[in-house]
Amino acid sequence: MSAPAFRSGPDATIGILGGGQLGRMLALAAARLGFKCHVLCAERNSPAFDVVRRVTEADFADKAALDRFADDVDVITYEFENVPAETATFLAARKPVLPDPKVLAVTQDRLVEKDFIVSLGIPTAPYAGVATEAELMPALGAVGRPAVLKTRRFGYDGKGQATLRKGDDPAAAWRAVGGQPAIVEAFVGFEREVSVVAARGHDGRIECFDVTENEHRDHILKVSRVPADVPPSVAEEALRIAARIAEAFCYVGVLAVEMFVVRDGPGHGVLVNEVAPRVHNSGHWTIDGCSVSQFEQHIRAVVGWPLAVPQRHGRAEMINLIGDEIAEYRQWLETPGASVHLYGKQAIRPGRKMGHVTRVFPKP
Ligand code: AMP
Repeated sequence: MSAPAFRSGPDATIGILGGGQLGRMLALAAARLGFKCHVLCAERNSPAFDVVRRVTEADFADKAALDRFADDVDVITYEFENVPAETATFLAARKPVLPDPKVLAVTQDRLVEKDFIVSLGIPTAPYAGVATEAELMPALGAVGRPAVLKTRRFGYDGKGQATLRKGDDPAAAWRAVGGQPAIVEAFVGFEREVSVVAARGHDGRIECFDVTENEHRDHILKVSRVPADVPPSVAEEALRIAARIAEAFCYVGVLAVEMFVVRDGPGHGVLVNEVAPRVHNSGHWTIDGCSVSQFEQHIRAVVGWPLAVPQRHGRAEMINLIGDEIAEYRQWLETPGASVHLYGKQAIRPGRKMGHVTRVFPKP
């Protein structure tokens, strides 16, 4: 996969597909470097709409709107991975789309993604594809129990997943994930979850942020801490894996690799869980905790600017404000050293990411 060459001055307009908080923070980083942004998103009042020069409120299937959007921008990127392949292809025929939409075809499908990772010699939990209900029992036999059944497509924050312990009814799990093509994966008794947010520029240079440790609650990221509490050999392995994946995709932009750290005899092993071809929640600490944020790195990469060499300011902790927890922002406003980020979302819903707080504890 090769990326189209693109270089741009700071007067360029960057098109962003998707208008959530990731698009909002990308646009804020772009503005700081002098760029204008145009966001395309179907949802009214999208968080990114508040901070950009132009918005297109349209569906990804609306070809006339896509045409106008492409006309107005110099380069196109995305803030979420489920951009339909047809949309990406349509736009790529008009303007450079980065990262290359071919990456989406891999990361939108858990089975294709896992096969790709394994083909690079990178370990994952044992898994098997399950196309029909009849295939579930043999697949479970192959990976063992406990296991997790996950839909191949459109799963996030634990959605489209069912756990299968000893005695659980496979038919019920199959129904729970909507009877769709899926994978079954061995349940990993991990010691911790970590991620690496990596940027790769046009010139192939890769800059990774430090390995981050992630704590989930109800399958949703609650706290990220950096540096991760892992031995140096594990951190090196995690960084090596992320760089290898970015390289293999000839990636241009920021991606995140989520991993499980497991006990392996006297030492540790690292298994890849999934790849997000975009800026990632576990990289939000970089806004306040690092000399360059993941958002700025992504913008630099897609406009063909040199990547920055990230320098962390200290130990950092990022706390997501989820659903009703948004009310806690008031106490954080008065907490010394806390940086508060609110996404401007009107409706509070359980599980909805409403904002985050970062605390940086400077190096002595
Ligand atoms: P995912 O949607 O694959 O990122 O999964 C969301 C979360 O579910 C992960 O961050 C883990 O906390 C948990 N999880 C997913 N897959 C597994 C697995 N195979 N074993 C144990 N926990 C898992």
